[in-house]
Amino acid sequence: MSYTEETLAALRRSSPAQEEFFQAVEEVLHSLRPLLDSNPRYREQRLIERLVEPERQIFFRVTWIDDKGAIQVNKGYRVQFSSTLGPVKGGLRFHPGVNAGIIKFLGFEQVFKNALTGLPLGGGKGGANFNPKGRSDSEIMEFCQAFMTELCKHLGPTIDVPAGDIGVGTREVGYLFGQYKRLTGRFDGVLTGKGLSWGGSRGRNEATGYGCVYFAEEMLRVRSEGIEGKVCTVSGAGNVAIHTVEKLLSIGARPVAVSDSTGTIHHPEGIDHDLLKQVKEVERGTLEAYARERSDARFIPVSEYPEGGHHIWTIPCDIAFPCATQNELTASDAETLVANECIAVCEGANMPATPEAVSYLSQSGIAYGPGKAANAGGVAVSQLEMSQNAAMQQWSSEEVDARLQEIMATIHTTVSEAAAEFGSPGNLVHGANIAGFRKVADAMIAQGAV
Ligand code: NDP
Repeated sequence: MSYTEETLAALRRSSPAQEEFFQAVEEVLHSLRPLLDSNPRYREQRLIERLVEPERQIFFRVTWIDDKGAIQVNKGYRVQFSSTLGPVKGGLRFHPGVNAGIIKFLGFEQVFKNALTGLPLGGGKGGANFNPKGRSDSEIMEFCQAFMTELCKHLGPTIDVPAGDIGVGTREVGYLFGQYKRLTGRFDGVLTGKGLSWGGSRGRNEATGYGCVYFAEEMLRVRSEGIEGKVCTVSGAGNVAIHTVEKLLSIGARPVAVSDSTGTIHHPEGIDHDLLKQVKEVERGTLEAYARERSDARFIPVSEYPEGGHHIWTIPCDIAFPCATQNELTASDAETLVANECIAVCEGANMPATPEAVSYLSQSGIAYGPGKAANAGGVAVSQLEMSQNAAMQQWSSEEVDARLQEIMATIHTTVSEAAAEFGSPGNLVHGANIAGFRKVADAMIAQGAV
């Protein structure tokens, strides 16, 4: 058995039933083979065994009282995967599907993504199996306060600095921050994605979506293409998807579809960004409401999706942006995209493509930007927020955006160069995994067996 196979087998025995986590580890280890073959010291130093084991995992009970006075109990998680390159950094996800395997996969990916930004950031992730849908504002606040009552013991501006993710936006970050401050008496930069008047950074909300479009521009630029005029499809209708659509519109592309957990909107004239924001952010409703307002748009409910696939990926496009959730793009979706002459897939979400889809896209010859590299803009601007908090400053939107563009271009160069160095030119999946791993692994060797 090879070193990577031995490690995977041991991992399956020690952490059973964590499918998404294995999927993430397997992909990284597959990419690392040429690097591990040419650098035996990574094996001697047991780097893989060390990296797949989080430094610290905090699992806790979250007890809170709903509007009817009933006691509710949820599971809370924070996995501090690696502090090798800096304080642990990564979002919090509130979603009923959250479990230890999902949080570990997200934390593992985050370690390499954060390394690729070139910024001093460790990696981790957290969340709860709490479903915010249908909950009142006061219930959301109750839950956030109960969650932070335990989590605050493990945070600090140089220890661990969470941010948002699915189900956690500015409102939730506000309630979490308020409770942290009440319990500790400190106004620290312990969360990013804060409101602008209380320590937030300009451009943080927009950063993941904008950064993803900047990454797509880089992928196309090396192929002597541009985004202007391109037809795009963007899955999801949350923070990342909305800001991807916003940036695409501002640079003259035509996003024609978005989706949510209930269905897909196809709007051939181009998505109405203001209406999308109104429906999803203000009314917190479903996309069906969008089609009620625009007779030239069609809503396709999930029940009508093709078997083994998703309707949004059947809509012909030049560029596809998966920005919803993990494993939302299957092999059959990937085949449909390529058959419809899509020229690029750029991931705003974390691990949105299944392993079969990743393999198909990587060999298809189209430009393919994995989330680990393409959605790193969010965490990059989170680090800029940490810098501003530490210096008690606030930078202009132009300054933040200029830095974001520079960071995304540098990530693209870094992963492209690593891919070429290890024999897979143009394969940004291998490039991202190798470049991210090498940075963390070399720092771990320098810091000794800890
Ligand atoms: P949000 O909660 O703001 O939005 C998620 C959106 O995806 C919602 O519109 C949701 O629908 C939709 N969705 C969920 N499941 C499906 C599905 N199976 N098919 C279609 N749509 C679906 O989360 P974010 O936008 O913050 O996060 C999206 C992705 O981006 C996640 O993978 C996250 O980890 C990743 N990411 C986020 C970053 C950030 O800065 N926020 C940073 C880097 C990565 P509904 O509205 O019906 O619930």
